[in-house]
Amino acid sequence: MIIILLGPPGAGKGTQAKELAARRGLVQLATGDMLRAAVAVGTEIGVKAKSIMESGGLVPDEIVIGIVAERLEQPDCRNGVILDGFPRTLPQASALDAVLKKKRRTLGAVIELKVNDKALVERISGRFSCARCGEGYHDTFKLPKVSGVCDVCQGTEFIRRKDDAPETVRDRLLVYYRDTSPLLGYYYCKGNLRMVDGMAPIDEVSGAIAGILDSIEGKA
Ligand code: AMP
Repeated sequence: MIIILLGPPGAGKGTQAKELAARRGLVQLATGDMLRAAVAVGTEIGVKAKSIMESGGLVPDEIVIGIVAERLEQPDCRNGVILDGFPRTLPQASALDAVLKKKRRTLGAVIELKVNDKALVERISGRFSCARCGEGYHDTFKLPKVSGVCDVCQGTEFIRRKDDAPETVRDRLLVYYRDTSPLLGYYYCKGNLRMVDGMAPIDEVSGAIAGILDSIEGKA
């Protein structure tokens, strides 16, 4: 099953994608994570992407489409994939359609996580993660149980994404409404779009997504 999680930065796509990956054995394919890894290693793609990402813009379609198409070829993606952060533009969506058609795979659902903008800025600007294992935290909603120590790996170093600074978050939201929100209409017309209230507690959001996926699997 191929699932797309759609929604502005901070809507909870990453959190829900991780949950789905753990519960349903799907592979989380997060283009933001893949690009950050390329930046960290300093690959050709990483060098091209770095300043664009830091300013909150979108990395060119051909680069992102290339890395997703290549990743979908891997054997672990056969059982199912959650696309987290891709597609983000109409050209990316039509490129994905072409890749899926070629592979004779169908799109299970496109799930929109709906969250209001004020909550997004608050959610994003407070988040940080463990430098060692990547566990996510938040200044208001989820501090480590022992201050300064990661709950999962006991690491003591934490990082904040440069593009999570409030001024960049505002630019990322504008980019979302300009370039990504047209995908809602695109998938609505194709009959794939489902909406979930992303303002609800994490468990409720997971439950609503599970209900949608169960109903799709029931029909398959
Ligand atoms: P994310 O972790 O999904 O918030 O993505 C972080 C940044 O990576 C974005 O602000 C973009 O600069 C870049 N990025 C991630 N996914 C895409 C995509 N599908 N298309 C273009 N740029 C992307």
